[in-house]
Amino acid sequence: MGVNLPAPASALAIGAHPDDVEFGCGATLAKWAATGCVVHHLVCTDGSKGTWDPADDLAELVARRQDEQRAAAKALGATGEVVFLGWPDGELESGLRQRGEVAYWIRRLRPEVVLGHDPWKRYRLHPDHRHAGFLTVDGVVAARDPHFFPDQHVEHHRPSALLLFEADEPDHVEEAGDDAVARKLAALEAHRSQLRSTMRVEPGSGEEEAQLAAFRARVNERLVAHGRIAGVTRGEAFKAITDL
Ligand SMILES: [Zn+2]
Repeated sequence: MGVNLPAPASALAIGAHPDDVEFGCGATLAKWAATGCVVHHLVCTDGSKGTWDPADDLAELVARRQDEQRAAAKALGATGEVVFLGWPDGELESGLRQRGEVAYWIRRLRPEVVLGHDPWKRYRLHPDHRHAGFLTVDGVVAARDPHFFPDQHVEHHRPSALLLFEADEPDHVEEAGDDAVARKLAALEAHRSQLRSTMRVEPGSGEEEAQLAAFRARVNERLVAHGRIAGVTRGEAFKAITDL
């Protein structure tokens, strides 16, 4: 079991939807950002399925979720880019075209560490999370060698580590202190449009504060459970691949 990589100079976190990065590795990114690490986000889909209200204006929702993602990045202390690939939510594929886009951004942003969904997480239902995981892994492989996608005219780049969150077989934990946990929660709560569907908070119900407290408690419980794997108080667990 590994604990705590040396804080990298730069990191790129790849998520299927706005908010996935905050759930998967928000505390780790906040911890690194506090040391001066430049943290970038890459969001594969447009998040247009992220509402339970059939009457919602989806173009408005997409724009709103991009604003929320930028606010969440800021809440983590991230100073890097927030990139949206804009593939339709629920319809992400891990084909060559998408892989080329992810490889391009890895080459362009040149992160020391890449983080993303574990594509091999068993019994994972949401196809976007699966595909975003494969795009992360396959994107790293394509980015590191010069003869993949040579028409991109951007220098190849080999990150030094890949951390997969929602790991099927976690073997690495990043410890999360109070500040990192507070920033992760603030970043999650910046995704205001997801209060109902993801955080189980009903705005205007009169129960909002209690429901928000329950959400924070659930996030904290998960951090405690992940920390326990490595014998630390709180943390985020990953499958770490460092022989890239
Ligand atoms: Zn998601």
